[in-house]
Order: sequence, then structure tokens, then C-alpha cells
Amino acid sequence: MIPAKNTTVDCSRCGNQVPKRLAIRIHQCNKCNLILNRDHNASINILNKGLNQLPQELRKVTLVEMSETFMKQENVTGLV
Ligand SMILES: [Zn+2]
Repeated sequence: MIPAKNTTVDCSRCGNQVPKRLAIRIHQCNKCNLILNRDHNASINILNKGLNQLPQELRKVTLVEMSETFMKQENVTGLV
């Protein structure tokens, strides 16, 4: 379980706490100037918290790294 506490307050980019009332639908960080939909920012925070709970070996491979690995493999087969 991921606690939802602070997920709407924390900036998903820099971790700065941006308190906001429920009526405010936009997350606007005064530190890194990130502007996101409030729920979008919260969902990124929840995703990050979830990833932090994964075992180390699963955490190594992110989506970006997976696509990079895939591209390298394509290059190798292209050379052969
Ligand atoms: Zn920020």
C-alpha cells in the first residue's frame, strides 16, 4: 500500500512541499517552477513511492533504460 499522504503536496520534480487547498487543481512549484495538474503531480509521486518499494534488482531497469537496451540490441543486429 502506498500512503496517499502528502502526494498532492510534494513537488514530483524537486520534492518541495507546496501546500494547497482541495479547490486548487494545479500544482505550481515555487522552487523549480513545475506546473502540473494537481492529480498528475500526485500520481507521479505515488508512482515514485511505489518504485521505491520495489526490490533493488527490479528498480534498476526503468522504462527509459529498457528502451535504450532495446535500441542497442537493434544496432547490434543491424551491424551483423
Ligand atoms: Zn518543484
